[in-house]
Amino acid sequence: MQTMDTFNFAGKKAFVRVDFNVPLDENFNITDDTRIRAAIPTLKKILKDGGSVIIGSHLGRPKGPADKFSLKHILPRISELLGADVQFANDCIGEEAEAKAAALRPGEALLLENLRFYAEEEGKPRLSADATEEETAKAKKEVKESQKEFTKELASYADVYVNDAFGTAHRAHASTALIADHFDAGNKLFGYLLQNEITAVEKVMNETQHPFTAIMGGSKVSTKIEIIKNLLDKVDNLILAGGMTYTFAKAFGGKIGGSIVEDDKLDLAKELVALAKEKGVNLVLAADAKIADNFSNDAKTGFAPVDEIPDGWEGLDIGPESEKDFTEVIKNSKTILWNGPVGVFEFNNFDKGSRAVSNAIVDATKKGAFSLVGGGDSVACVNKFGQADEVSYVSTGGGALLEMIEGKVLPGIKAIRGY
Ligand code: AMP
Repeated sequence: MQTMDTFNFAGKKAFVRVDFNVPLDENFNITDDTRIRAAIPTLKKILKDGGSVIIGSHLGRPKGPADKFSLKHILPRISELLGADVQFANDCIGEEAEAKAAALRPGEALLLENLRFYAEEEGKPRLSADATEEETAKAKKEVKESQKEFTKELASYADVYVNDAFGTAHRAHASTALIADHFDAGNKLFGYLLQNEITAVEKVMNETQHPFTAIMGGSKVSTKIEIIKNLLDKVDNLILAGGMTYTFAKAFGGKIGGSIVEDDKLDLAKELVALAKEKGVNLVLAADAKIADNFSNDAKTGFAPVDEIPDGWEGLDIGPESEKDFTEVIKNSKTILWNGPVGVFEFNNFDKGSRAVSNAIVDATKKGAFSLVGGGDSVACVNKFGQADEVSYVSTGGGALLEMIEGKVLPGIKAIRGY
């Protein structure tokens, strides 16, 4: 299979699907350009080889063309980061896009307007709320049909297809997956970012050095069930923390005060504990909590065992005993996956537990462990603590990363390498 380093783009036009779905403020200023920066190495390499790039992306969730979601707002920043003038096509398909793509010379770049201005991108019809079942079925069929034309047209602009949009790799959309059918095996490849993400996940999930420890935090167990189940077949230690702690504590008869809990998941919690035992996984739950008398940074605080939280109090972070337990396990690990904070890290008074986890991961990484941080707020944690450069890999993907850890095959990856 071709890679960014083996492929020579000289004289070629590349359609590069990126994820430039960046947050904008009300004046269309980019408030975080991480996603643009992440794709720059791929774009630069193509231009440096003497190729040209046609950049495709989505922005937001438009229901059709809308100025608010136009990629023209981010064009200047792309040019700045790329260090080259980038042209713009006001529509991602049609005469203007076609002519501008055809006129591209080596070293030139063109940004297409938001792909999601067309329903064909996601393959989902845009229907009114009162559409009948029959109308819905007809519209679905139509959009699937026209999706073929849409991808064919996009593909016709280029000689080679590069997918560097990890954030949407779990979607079987026109430009993230279907378009690949129009290119032969030697002319479709992963961009650097997507390749790096795949390599990092495979290092954790398939080429694992043991002991392997996963730390799952966040607010709820319900959103993490599939991941936890898949991880139980892979890990030596599973640390479950954050808000889900209290669902486990309550399931075994604990008093959790006003802590966050999913009452309909008590049986599931017991089932997961039994499953961990059956599979010989060392399941580590928090022993104690830093408790608060309300959900705020300035709340009155105290410490309590997770199953003895008084009424009127709630657990918002792990306590010192749990910090010690977690650190001990993490420190001795060779592979580490961290998904989700172990407390309400957004409040400075309740970020100490997540800091301890982050510190332990950094220490283990220094001793040679491979550490992957990703999928949600744990990325915000390592950024807050200034430790993003001290772990092995920080993933840019939310849903895509989580689906890979669940063991799913992502359409955007399969479309290029076949599995
Ligand atoms: P998730 O998106 O599921 O990874 O959840 C992340 C969120 O979980 C963060 O915003 C944390 O503030 C929150 N969280 C972590 N621990 C707790 C807790 N003990 N109580 C309430 N929320 C929590």
